[in-house]
Amino acid sequence: MTRQLIVGNWKMNGSLAANHDLLRAIQAGLSATACPAAVCVPSPYLAQCQQLLQGGALHWGAQDVSAHEQGAFTGEVSAAMLRDFGVRYAIVGHSERRQYHGESDADVATKAQRALAAGITPIVCVGETLAEREAGQTQAVVKRQLAAVIHTNGHCISEIVVAYEPVWAIGTGQTATPAQAQEVHDLLRAQLAAATAHPERISLLYGGSMNASNAASLLAQQDIDGGLIGGASLKAADFLAIVAAASQ
Ligand code: PEP
Repeated sequence: MTRQLIVGNWKMNGSLAANHDLLRAIQAGLSATACPAAVCVPSPYLAQCQQLLQGGALHWGAQDVSAHEQGAFTGEVSAAMLRDFGVRYAIVGHSERRQYHGESDADVATKAQRALAAGITPIVCVGETLAEREAGQTQAVVKRQLAAVIHTNGHCISEIVVAYEPVWAIGTGQTATPAQAQEVHDLLRAQLAAATAHPERISLLYGGSMNASNAASLLAQQDIDGGLIGGASLKAADFLAIVAAASQ
Protein backbone atom coordinates (compact mmCIF):
# COMPACT_ATOMS: atom_id res chain seq x y z
CA MET A 1 0.00 0.00 0.00
CA THR A 2 1.23 3.50 -0.83
CA ARG A 3 2.11 5.67 2.14
CA GLN A 4 -0.37 8.46 2.74
CA LEU A 5 0.49 12.03 1.71
CA ILE A 6 -1.31 15.21 2.70
CA VAL A 7 -0.73 18.39 0.68
CA GLY A 8 -2.16 21.84 1.36
CA ASN A 9 -3.06 24.13 -1.53
CA TRP A 10 -3.09 27.65 -0.14
CA LYS A 11 -4.25 29.10 -3.47
CA MET A 12 -3.86 32.92 -3.55
CA ASN A 13 -3.90 33.39 0.22
CA GLY A 14 -1.29 34.41 2.75
CA SER A 15 1.07 37.16 3.88
CA LEU A 16 4.56 37.03 5.33
CA ALA A 17 3.24 37.49 8.86
CA ALA A 18 0.31 35.07 8.60
CA ASN A 19 2.41 32.42 6.84
CA HIS A 20 5.02 32.59 9.56
CA ASP A 21 2.46 31.75 12.23
CA LEU A 22 0.73 29.07 10.15
CA LEU A 23 3.95 27.31 9.12
CA ARG A 24 5.33 27.38 12.64
CA ALA A 25 2.08 25.98 14.06
CA ILE A 26 1.94 23.16 11.50
CA GLN A 27 5.61 22.34 12.04
CA ALA A 28 5.16 22.25 15.80
CA GLY A 29 2.07 20.04 15.53
CA LEU A 30 3.52 17.36 13.25
CA SER A 31 4.20 14.26 15.32
CA ALA A 32 7.20 12.02 14.74
CA THR A 33 4.88 9.40 13.25
CA ALA A 34 3.03 11.79 10.93
CA CYS A 35 2.70 10.85 7.28
CA PRO A 36 4.55 13.03 4.72
CA ALA A 37 2.95 16.48 4.45
CA ALA A 38 3.52 19.56 2.31
CA VAL A 39 2.10 23.00 1.63
CA CYS A 40 1.85 24.46 -1.88
CA VAL A 41 2.15 28.22 -1.49
CA PRO A 42 2.06 31.26 -3.80
CA SER A 43 5.47 31.59 -5.50
CA PRO A 44 6.58 34.78 -3.69
CA TYR A 45 6.47 32.82 -0.43
CA LEU A 46 8.69 29.93 -1.53
CA ALA A 47 11.77 31.68 -0.15
CA GLN A 48 10.02 32.05 3.20
CA CYS A 49 9.20 28.33 3.21
CA GLN A 50 12.79 27.47 2.34
CA GLN A 51 14.04 29.62 5.18
CA LEU A 52 11.57 28.37 7.79
CA LEU A 53 11.11 24.72 6.82
CA GLN A 54 14.49 23.57 5.51
CA GLY A 55 15.52 20.31 7.16
CA GLY A 56 12.13 19.80 8.84
CA ALA A 57 9.29 17.35 8.29
CA LEU A 58 6.98 19.73 6.43
CA HIS A 59 7.77 20.02 2.71
CA TRP A 60 6.71 22.81 0.39
CA GLY A 61 5.65 23.16 -3.19
CA ALA A 62 4.35 25.45 -5.92
CA GLN A 63 0.83 25.71 -7.34
CA ASP A 64 1.88 25.77 -10.99
CA VAL A 65 4.98 25.63 -13.19
CA SER A 66 5.68 26.99 -16.65
CA ALA A 67 5.43 24.65 -19.63
CA HIS A 68 8.51 26.46 -21.00
CA GLU A 69 12.09 25.98 -19.97
CA GLN A 70 13.17 29.66 -20.01
CA GLY A 71 13.00 32.84 -22.04
CA ALA A 72 10.44 35.43 -23.16
CA PHE A 73 7.42 34.25 -21.15
CA THR A 74 6.53 37.23 -18.98
CA GLY A 75 5.01 36.30 -15.65
CA GLU A 76 5.93 32.62 -15.87
CA VAL A 77 8.00 30.72 -13.31
CA SER A 78 10.18 27.87 -14.56
CA ALA A 79 10.77 24.50 -12.93
CA ALA A 80 14.46 25.34 -12.50
CA MET A 81 13.52 28.51 -10.60
CA LEU A 82 11.23 26.51 -8.32
CA ARG A 83 14.06 24.07 -7.76
CA ASP A 84 16.28 26.95 -6.59
CA PHE A 85 13.85 27.40 -3.72
CA GLY A 86 13.89 23.77 -2.60
CA VAL A 87 10.47 22.96 -4.00
CA ARG A 88 9.55 19.27 -3.76
CA TYR A 89 6.08 19.37 -5.39
CA ALA A 90 4.33 21.40 -8.08
CA ILE A 91 0.59 21.19 -8.61
CA VAL A 92 -0.21 21.01 -12.34
CA GLY A 93 -3.59 21.12 -14.02
CA HIS A 94 -5.58 22.38 -11.06
CA SER A 95 -9.14 22.97 -12.26
CA GLU A 96 -8.78 26.69 -11.51
CA ARG A 97 -5.83 26.81 -13.96
CA ARG A 98 -7.77 24.78 -16.54
CA GLN A 99 -10.87 26.96 -16.11
CA TYR A 100 -9.46 30.49 -15.70
CA HIS A 101 -6.25 30.16 -17.71
CA GLY A 102 -7.40 27.84 -20.47
CA GLU A 103 -4.86 25.13 -19.74
CA SER A 104 -5.33 22.13 -22.02
CA ASP A 105 -4.54 18.49 -21.29
CA ALA A 106 -1.42 18.89 -23.45
CA ASP A 107 -0.28 21.97 -21.45
CA VAL A 108 -0.71 20.05 -18.22
CA ALA A 109 1.26 17.11 -19.58
CA THR A 110 4.13 19.40 -20.61
CA LYS A 111 4.12 21.10 -17.22
CA ALA A 112 4.40 17.71 -15.54
CA GLN A 113 7.32 16.93 -17.86
CA ARG A 114 9.11 20.19 -16.95
CA ALA A 115 8.66 19.50 -13.26
CA LEU A 116 9.98 15.95 -13.53
CA ALA A 117 13.01 17.10 -15.52
CA ALA A 118 13.88 19.46 -12.67
CA GLY A 119 13.50 16.79 -10.00
CA ILE A 120 10.14 18.14 -8.78
CA THR A 121 7.18 15.81 -8.23
CA PRO A 122 4.16 17.04 -10.22
CA ILE A 123 0.81 16.66 -8.48
CA VAL A 124 -1.38 16.15 -11.53
CA CYS A 125 -4.99 17.20 -10.94
CA VAL A 126 -7.84 15.57 -12.83
CA GLY A 127 -11.56 15.87 -12.29
CA GLU A 128 -14.93 16.34 -13.91
CA THR A 129 -17.33 19.28 -13.75
CA LEU A 130 -20.86 18.84 -12.39
CA ALA A 131 -22.26 18.94 -15.93
CA GLU A 132 -19.86 16.22 -17.01
CA ARG A 133 -20.79 14.04 -14.02
CA GLU A 134 -24.49 14.51 -14.69
CA ALA A 135 -23.93 13.58 -18.32
CA GLY A 136 -22.25 10.34 -17.25
CA GLN A 137 -18.85 11.49 -18.54
CA THR A 138 -16.81 11.30 -15.33
CA GLN A 139 -14.77 8.28 -16.32
CA ALA A 140 -14.10 9.47 -19.86
CA VAL A 141 -12.99 12.93 -18.65
CA VAL A 142 -10.54 11.81 -15.98
CA LYS A 143 -9.14 9.08 -18.22
CA ARG A 144 -8.56 11.57 -21.03
CA GLN A 145 -6.85 14.04 -18.68
CA LEU A 146 -4.56 11.38 -17.21
CA ALA A 147 -3.88 9.76 -20.61
CA ALA A 148 -2.31 12.99 -21.87
CA VAL A 149 0.12 13.03 -18.95
CA ILE A 150 0.95 9.33 -19.37
CA HIS A 151 1.50 9.80 -23.11
CA THR A 152 3.97 12.68 -22.65
CA ASN A 153 5.82 11.31 -19.63
CA GLY A 154 6.21 7.65 -20.55
CA HIS A 155 8.54 5.74 -18.26
CA CYS A 156 8.68 8.64 -15.72
CA ILE A 157 5.01 8.21 -14.90
CA SER A 158 5.69 6.30 -11.68
CA GLU A 159 7.30 9.51 -10.32
CA ILE A 160 4.11 11.57 -10.36
CA VAL A 161 1.36 12.11 -7.80
CA VAL A 162 -2.24 12.20 -9.04
CA ALA A 163 -5.02 14.17 -7.37
CA TYR A 164 -8.64 13.37 -8.22
CA GLU A 165 -10.48 16.63 -7.65
CA PRO A 166 -14.11 16.69 -8.82
CA VAL A 167 -14.59 20.32 -9.83
CA TRP A 168 -18.03 20.44 -8.21
CA ALA A 169 -16.47 19.56 -4.84
CA ILE A 170 -13.71 22.19 -4.82
CA GLY A 171 -14.38 25.01 -2.39
CA THR A 172 -18.08 24.17 -2.29
CA GLY A 173 -18.32 22.18 0.93
CA GLN A 174 -19.87 19.40 -1.16
CA THR A 175 -17.48 16.48 -0.82
CA ALA A 176 -17.60 13.40 -3.03
CA THR A 177 -18.83 10.46 -0.99
CA PRO A 178 -16.12 7.97 -0.09
CA ALA A 179 -17.72 5.52 -2.55
CA GLN A 180 -17.80 8.07 -5.38
CA ALA A 181 -14.15 8.98 -4.79
CA GLN A 182 -13.06 5.33 -4.48
CA GLU A 183 -14.78 4.45 -7.75
CA VAL A 184 -12.74 7.04 -9.66
CA HIS A 185 -9.51 6.23 -7.80
CA ASP A 186 -9.93 2.58 -8.70
CA LEU A 187 -10.25 3.56 -12.34
CA LEU A 188 -7.17 5.82 -12.20
CA ARG A 189 -5.17 3.11 -10.44
CA ALA A 190 -6.01 0.65 -13.23
CA GLN A 191 -5.03 3.20 -15.89
CA LEU A 192 -1.69 3.80 -14.17
CA ALA A 193 -1.09 0.06 -13.70
CA ALA A 194 -1.40 -0.38 -17.46
CA ALA A 195 1.22 2.35 -18.00
CA THR A 196 3.95 1.48 -15.51
CA ALA A 197 5.45 -1.53 -13.79
CA HIS A 198 5.45 0.46 -10.54
CA PRO A 199 1.93 1.83 -9.98
CA GLU A 200 2.39 1.32 -6.24
CA ARG A 201 4.84 4.25 -6.23
CA ILE A 202 2.10 6.67 -7.28
CA SER A 203 0.06 8.32 -4.54
CA LEU A 204 -3.55 8.96 -5.54
CA LEU A 205 -4.87 11.93 -3.55
CA TYR A 206 -8.48 13.01 -3.21
CA GLY A 207 -9.24 16.75 -3.21
CA GLY A 208 -12.50 18.65 -2.87
CA SER A 209 -13.77 20.02 0.45
CA MET A 210 -11.81 17.48 2.48
CA ASN A 211 -11.78 18.62 6.08
CA ALA A 212 -11.10 17.44 9.62
CA SER A 213 -14.55 15.82 9.87
CA ASN A 214 -14.71 13.87 6.61
CA ALA A 215 -11.02 13.03 6.12
CA ALA A 216 -10.99 9.72 7.97
CA SER A 217 -13.82 8.16 5.95
CA LEU A 218 -12.30 9.26 2.63
CA LEU A 219 -8.78 8.17 3.59
CA ALA A 220 -10.09 4.77 4.68
CA GLN A 221 -10.88 3.90 1.06
CA GLN A 222 -8.55 1.36 -0.48
CA ASP A 223 -7.28 3.52 -3.33
CA ILE A 224 -7.21 6.92 -1.60
CA ASP A 225 -3.61 7.56 -0.57
CA GLY A 226 -4.00 11.02 0.87
CA GLY A 227 -5.51 14.41 0.23
CA LEU A 228 -5.03 17.71 -1.58
CA ILE A 229 -6.54 20.22 0.81
CA GLY A 230 -7.64 23.76 -0.08
CA GLY A 231 -9.61 25.75 2.48
CA ALA A 232 -8.85 23.48 5.43
CA SER A 233 -5.09 23.85 4.87
CA LEU A 234 -5.24 27.50 5.94
CA LYS A 235 -5.93 26.63 9.57
CA ALA A 236 -3.16 24.74 11.36
CA ALA A 237 -5.53 22.77 13.61
CA ASP A 238 -7.64 21.57 10.67
CA PHE A 239 -4.65 20.69 8.51
CA LEU A 240 -3.00 18.83 11.39
CA ALA A 241 -6.21 16.91 12.11
CA ILE A 242 -6.25 15.70 8.50
CA VAL A 243 -2.57 14.72 8.70
CA ALA A 244 -3.35 12.83 11.92
CA ALA A 245 -6.25 11.02 10.24
CA ALA A 246 -3.91 9.98 7.41
CA SER A 247 -1.23 8.82 9.83
CA GLN A 248 -3.36 6.17 11.60
C1 PEP B 1 -8.19 22.55 -4.02
O1 PEP B 1 -8.27 23.73 -4.36
O2 PEP B 1 -7.31 21.82 -4.49
C2 PEP B 1 -9.15 22.06 -3.04
C3 PEP B 1 -9.23 20.76 -2.84
O3 PEP B 1 -9.90 23.00 -2.39
P1 PEP B 1 -10.96 22.75 -1.19
O4 PEP B 1 -10.34 21.76 -0.24
O5 PEP B 1 -11.14 24.10 -0.56
O6 PEP B 1 -12.20 22.21 -1.80
